[in-house]
Amino acid sequence: MKPFDIVIVGGGGAGLYAAMEAMKTNPALNIAVLSKVYPNRSHTSAAQGGANAALANKAKDDTVELHIFDTIKGSDYLADQDAVDILCSEAPKIIRELDNIGTPWSRLEDNTIAQRPFGGAGRPRCCYCADKTGHTILQTLYEQCLKKGVFFFNEYFALQLSLHDSRMKGLIAMNMKTGKIEAFPARTVLFATGGYAKMYWNRSSNAAGNTGDGQAIAYRAGIPLKDMEFVQFHPTGLRKSGLLVTEGARGEGGYLINALGERFMSRYAPEKMELGPRDLVSRSIETEILQGRGFDSPAGKYVHLDLTHLGADLIKSRLPQIREMSMYFEGVDPIDEPIPVRPTAHYSMGGIDTDNYGRTVMDGVYAAGECACVSVHGANRLGGNSLLDILVFGRIAGHTAAEEAGKFEPSPITADEIAATEARLRSYMQPSGHFERYGILREELGQTLGQNVGIYREASKIRKGVADLRELQERFTHVRVNDTSDVFNTNLMQVLELKNMLDLAETVAAGALAREESRGSHTRTDFPQRDDEKWHKHTIATIEGDRVKLGEKPVTMGRYELQERTY
Ligand SMILES: Cc1cc2nc3c(=O)[nH]c(=O)nc-3n(C[C@H](O)[C@H](O)[C@H](O)COP(=O)(O)OP(=O)(O)OC[C@H]3O[C@@H](n4cnc5c(N)ncnc54)[C@H](O)[C@@H]3O)c2cc1C
Repeated sequence: MKPFDIVIVGGGGAGLYAAMEAMKTNPALNIAVLSKVYPNRSHTSAAQGGANAALANKAKDDTVELHIFDTIKGSDYLADQDAVDILCSEAPKIIRELDNIGTPWSRLEDNTIAQRPFGGAGRPRCCYCADKTGHTILQTLYEQCLKKGVFFFNEYFALQLSLHDSRMKGLIAMNMKTGKIEAFPARTVLFATGGYAKMYWNRSSNAAGNTGDGQAIAYRAGIPLKDMEFVQFHPTGLRKSGLLVTEGARGEGGYLINALGERFMSRYAPEKMELGPRDLVSRSIETEILQGRGFDSPAGKYVHLDLTHLGADLIKSRLPQIREMSMYFEGVDPIDEPIPVRPTAHYSMGGIDTDNYGRTVMDGVYAAGECACVSVHGANRLGGNSLLDILVFGRIAGHTAAEEAGKFEPSPITADEIAATEARLRSYMQPSGHFERYGILREELGQTLGQNVGIYREASKIRKGVADLRELQERFTHVRVNDTSDVFNTNLMQVLELKNMLDLAETVAAGALAREESRGSHTRTDFPQRDDEKWHKHTIATIEGDRVKLGEKPVTMGRYELQERTY
């Protein structure tokens, strides 16, 4: 195959914005987007609530500076302040740009873009398209990429970077339709593969494919990952499935109620109530349940999210998908009854360490979106800031890759390298004496993470998690794929995803054990205070042999000094 100037791995919001911007920067470039699902089925399409921007349409006194401060405070002061400046300053421009190219934003009565309140935000600044914001953004971007001549390789599964003496030569991927291993020689590769929160199998709001493939590929190629221990639990997952009920439901005025009928958030965030930041609201719900004030059912313990006082009109017009999901998956119509909810693993704050331009430490390799860690979310992301992140930093990374592609000479990927990859995949199909099943290891991975490296953490539990993960890695060497066919071998792909999740789970657990403090989403019951003296820094995970090696990196400060975080 002729070398590409840019190979983008991932067709979600970050990947498509990067592709669109790279084409705009230099229309002569040869750009490929690879995606293991059809691009418009990427997890971005599941985003409901909206994207933040200080447009000041709803609250006239909103400013970019307030958005910056809310984001830094929300991050528990772990975000890099120069990156947050970029995120929030670019926000109004990028929302308007999407408006210009066709995203159908909901409108206020004066016809300006509508904005709703979101957790941890001082003003209503979340721009939305009913409760289908991600879906509409993704459709808009996909159209633009098709129009601009981006090459799409849909249903291709990225396997590894091709390296020669640590120099990146391109990407190796499997064509899922034929099972064939194909080479993508490239001057630059940009990862936009989304998050890893699906590793918390049993309760996660994420799409099945959010298995951190790009992060794992980068990690195994020697590229550092940052702040992996920070995994966000969203307060309101549906009780049975963990599927998401958007924060927009509380933004529109929904209440959280315990089994005693109390609006219990008054105990934890008297000022912000249900619109406290996610880490705080999730901990509050779990505490109510742990202290016996939750509801119980065969499908698990839960609290109520009550929207009944909002009225049928508002629910039907602004939260139609939430109504549909509650009826379908819980059998309750939120117009008449409260929704049973419990926190669910939702978002990866950690990811591939990049600079503010999307560059990693490896020449020609870039990352953007949820798979990257710039970092703008620090220890806790605010709702509505991730769609914004993928757009702003997707655009920046796409621009950088387009500007820099000419610096890197392409070189061919050898037939030997392809043959070695084929042999590796085939080895999963060869019989072995001691046989392990994918499904069992996958289940155990989710269980141990949920129990030992979940919302509340402590040394003895995390150590158990670390030991379990080591054992799972060992057992993984005996996993065999039963299906030996070439066409859409989902069993093989699940096994490859499992390996990616196991490698990343070890970085999550290692960071969680090392970080002896509580900050944002990372709550250590044995170290309940934030410890700025020892831990106001990023963790950096690299691979050494087959083990995680932890390092650190300073946090970039700016106008805002460290403060206690109250709501
Ligand atoms: C249910 C839900 C609701 C959300 N709501 C909001 C919200 O209202 N506001 C907000 O700001 N944020 C929200 N978020 C978070 C936000 O949607 C995500 O962080 C963001 O969309 C991620 O975009 P992305 O482009 O980085 O990755 P994704 O959209 O996840 O796309 C990843 C892409 O990578 C591809 N890929 C992955 N692995 C491989 C591989 N091995 N080979 C080839 N391709 C691969 C996939 O096919 C896909 O195209 C929500 C998240 C969830 C789960």
